[in-house]
Amino acid sequence: MKLDPANNIQDLQYFGEFGGVNPSISDSSTFTFIKAKTMFDTFEGNADGCYLYSRHTSPSNLYLGEALAAMEGAESANVAASGMGAITPVLMQLCGAGEHIVSSRTIYGGTYAYLKNFMPRFNVTTSFVDITKLDIVEAAITKNTKVLYCETVSNPLLEVADIRSLSALAKKYNLKLVVDNTFSPLSISPLALGADVVIHSLTKFINGSSDTVGGVVCGTTDFINQLKDVNTGASMLMGSTMDSMRSASILKNLRTLHIRMQQHSKNALYLAEKFESLGIKTVYPGLKSHKSNSIFKSMMNEKYGFGGMLTIDVGSLDKANALMELMQKRNLGYLAVSLGFYKTLFSAPGTSTSSEIPENEQKEMGLTDGLIRFSIGLDADISRTFIMIRESLEALSIV
Ligand code: PLP
Repeated sequence: MKLDPANNIQDLQYFGEFGGVNPSISDSSTFTFIKAKTMFDTFEGNADGCYLYSRHTSPSNLYLGEALAAMEGAESANVAASGMGAITPVLMQLCGAGEHIVSSRTIYGGTYAYLKNFMPRFNVTTSFVDITKLDIVEAAITKNTKVLYCETVSNPLLEVADIRSLSALAKKYNLKLVVDNTFSPLSISPLALGADVVIHSLTKFINGSSDTVGGVVCGTTDFINQLKDVNTGASMLMGSTMDSMRSASILKNLRTLHIRMQQHSKNALYLAEKFESLGIKTVYPGLKSHKSNSIFKSMMNEKYGFGGMLTIDVGSLDKANALMELMQKRNLGYLAVSLGFYKTLFSAPGTSTSSEIPENEQKEMGLTDGLIRFSIGLDADISRTFIMIRESLEALSIV
């Protein structure tokens, strides 16, 4: 039977303290003990079922972590206060001074800045490569390389990583393959394809209501315990802990993720085909014209589709800005960064979410001025939306 990650979430069963259908929210930063010895054992991590202090762990965070681990088919997971709060400790845990990372060059601007500008302060260096070219990836590996890092579907160019092949490379050189799966939850299950660690910014599709930031790391119990170790764990010691109120609300939203992803994907495929038929340069992994369409198909959990993200290139930043302002005025979506909302969100990545990447490098990777990144919403009638977008494109003489 093929893995269905949504079933794994559905199959969990929780009750609240008084028989509530949702688990009770743990509203305490610290926990009491009857016996002092149990407190000591809990601090050392040896008293199962006991809680000491909510930066270490809390019942609400464990519930959410368990559900996300189930979704990704992981042994364990650790939630964090943001996506960056999940990414940064993972890389610090896996790499020390003198070690090296090979990363896709098209990744979220914040992750890029962290690898390029921040990690060198600790003598951890990164080679940025075209992740779709396996020979180039392999050539960048040195004897000091510890991690191969990529996004399943990259932000903002929507390049698709061939996770099976990258995993084979990682195994050959004894590296950890760390995959940010923020753009393709449910659609792609990287651990089943050979990744070692999967990260999400929960801020996006998984929470889906643009009301909080959050992150998660999914992996083996051993690795998650390393991150949470009170003496040596990067998550524990850098302290990017999610608040219990938030983990409770994200868990509730997670339960509808499968329905939302299907609608995001259906709407995005519809619009991508329509934009392409108007002669606009459109990138969407579900289009035959996408250079990794067949790789995506070979990896995907079919019913969740190709995701809600697409890009179009309207030729110049001025045109992109004019179009986004007009679409917002006509209430077709919001001129805002981030993704996974019920409304369509659009931004020009070169001047927003990828602005950390220097201009010459943006050019080299194909990040053009006229590029607009769309996170397609849950519109009930996407054909009506398209007609209105086409009118906006015509009004600005883009088509
Ligand atoms: N990974 C990807 C692919 C993202 O798009 C983002 C944010 O835009 C992040 C990670 C960082 O997540 P957060 O903003 O929750 O820290």
